[in-house]
Amino acid sequence: MKVGRDLLPGHWNTRPLDHWPTALLDLRFASAIVTSVERLQVLVALKRRNRFLNLSVPAYAIFLGIAGVVAVLVLGSLLGSFAVSRLTDHGRLGKLARENMTLKAQVASYAAAMDTFRQFLAKAEQMDNKLRASINLPLIPGDIRLMGIGGSQPPSPEPGVDAMLRRLRFEQQSMAEIEGAVKEQESRLKNMPSIWPVQGWVASGYGYRRDPFTGARNLHPGLDIVAPTGTPVSATAAGHVTYAGWKSGWGRCVEIDHGGGIRTFYAHCRSVKVSTGDNVFRGDEIATVGSSGRSTGTHLHYGILASGSWTNPGNYILTQLSAN
Ligand SMILES: [Zn+2]
Repeated sequence: MKVGRDLLPGHWNTRPLDHWPTALLDLRFASAIVTSVERLQVLVALKRRNRFLNLSVPAYAIFLGIAGVVAVLVLGSLLGSFAVSRLTDHGRLGKLARENMTLKAQVASYAAAMDTFRQFLAKAEQMDNKLRASINLPLIPGDIRLMGIGGSQPPSPEPGVDAMLRRLRFEQQSMAEIEGAVKEQESRLKNMPSIWPVQGWVASGYGYRRDPFTGARNLHPGLDIVAPTGTPVSATAAGHVTYAGWKSGWGRCVEIDHGGGIRTFYAHCRSVKVSTGDNVFRGDEIATVGSSGRSTGTHLHYGILASGSWTNPGNYILTQLSAN
């Protein structure tokens, strides 16, 4: 055996070798000899041909080779896991993107609905003040409405929504106040003796005058309305008949309680058309004009009692006298 020392490091050095694959198959003996720390020299003896393969590789090349293989393995593993993660992320991102599209569409539709609702609320607030003006309730300034009223519910993440909800609650309270005021006015107007009881002319007004019979100066507690005998006398508001019949001095008369301390009194009638306990509506015929009782001529005496005291009927009548 001869050890070749003249070989270039890291290269296969072969002596003339015929039928190289056959020679490899016939390998019967091999030995490796480390000749130094820097080099790994392998001498392979091929028996049949009596030839040698001299393999000489520097140690650093082996270390480099091993390091290269390790590096390739590590890098490959990193690249693999990165690719898998990218693929997984891609799927997740796609799902998130689709969800985001859906959410964007929903947000856009909510924003449009909120805008419509805001416009509606603004119109409702305008209408609210118009109603208030029509029934003599104090108007509510815009800045007070915008502040609204507080609520116990948790705050919304959207400040605009909170403000809208406050305005809405405020508007609800305002509407309830308007409704109450309208009902009260309706009731008051329904029971307010606001019309003339008979068409005619006023011969004697409310106030102090000389009594036509005694000559003394007394309060004339009502209006004397002259009209032809038999002219229908109307209830001037809805109410409850508390008296229908003869009273000394007043002749045939009717008294109606309208609630709220207001009563009306119709006297000197020729006939009475209702009975005590009857309920009447404004405009119902309750009697006819006459001259019963202590009367100087055909007329209706019409008086109003407010909380038990005579008061001027002229202060309650809202309609013009059509005939005089
Ligand atoms: Zn009178």
